[in-house]
Amino acid sequence: MTDFSGKTALVIGGSRGIGAAIVKRLAADGAAVTFSYAGATDAAQALATETGASAVRSDAADRDAVIALVADAGPIDILVVNAGVLVFGDPLEQDADVIDRMIDVNVRAPYHAAVEAARRMPDNGRIIFIGSTNGDRIPFTGGAAYSLTKSAIQGLTRGLARDFGGRGITVNTVQPGPTDTDMNPGDGPMKDLMHGFMAIKRHGRPDEIAGMVAYLAGPEAGIVTGALHTIDGGFGA
Ligand code: NDP
Repeated sequence: MTDFSGKTALVIGGSRGIGAAIVKRLAADGAAVTFSYAGATDAAQALATETGASAVRSDAADRDAVIALVADAGPIDILVVNAGVLVFGDPLEQDADVIDRMIDVNVRAPYHAAVEAARRMPDNGRIIFIGSTNGDRIPFTGGAAYSLTKSAIQGLTRGLARDFGGRGITVNTVQPGPTDTDMNPGDGPMKDLMHGFMAIKRHGRPDEIAGMVAYLAGPEAGIVTGALHTIDGGFGA
């Protein structure tokens, strides 16, 4: 447990999966949490009721909506940008609009959210992106576009750490490997392929990812910045 009493947190994309686990962890540790979602209204309302967090419907693919969401949240201590989509497939066959929307959600939203948050963030604030081990390694076909979005987050993390470090604001990325969510079910058709790349042959749990986020958001991590924190069962080893 980390004591986040008196801290405010915004989790972009918090209705399900890893984002929901992050909302639960930060709220349980005492933060006043707001989270956004795009489509899963029932899940978002249930999570808000369970945790006491505030849910706001806002599409991360819409740049102006992202900026307004962050601006309306006021001076937040902890920003977590988790919203992400995964589109796999043959690049010669994929719909260009679908790929561009993935880039909007996975790359444009984190950039604009972080910059807008930093305008009001107090000294020693925390910016945390959820990237992927696929930012480092994509050991199968069909993942080029997804991998590019997660590699882009790596450069963003390093650059913003330089930009905001003078205020003690840290900027980090957590890079999950296969994690049991709707996006990548632990019993899904890709299970055996993915476990074949891993040293520990199981999907991670969302609460394990949330634990690393809580560490990075907490007071022990004040000198941890510009860094990638991989939690992937050895997928990239
Ligand atoms: P899920 O699909 O289970 O959940 C995605 C979450 O993001 C939902 O809360 C969803 O909200 C939200 N979201 C998606 N699109 C938007 C949008 N346009 N606007 C606002 N919110 C949005 O995914 P995971 O929990 O598995 O993934 C979370 C993050 O972790 C992603 O960035 C993903 O790339 C990354 N990741 C996941 C891995 C895995 O194996 N699961 C591995 C490595 C990285 P709603 O349903 O309301 O639209």
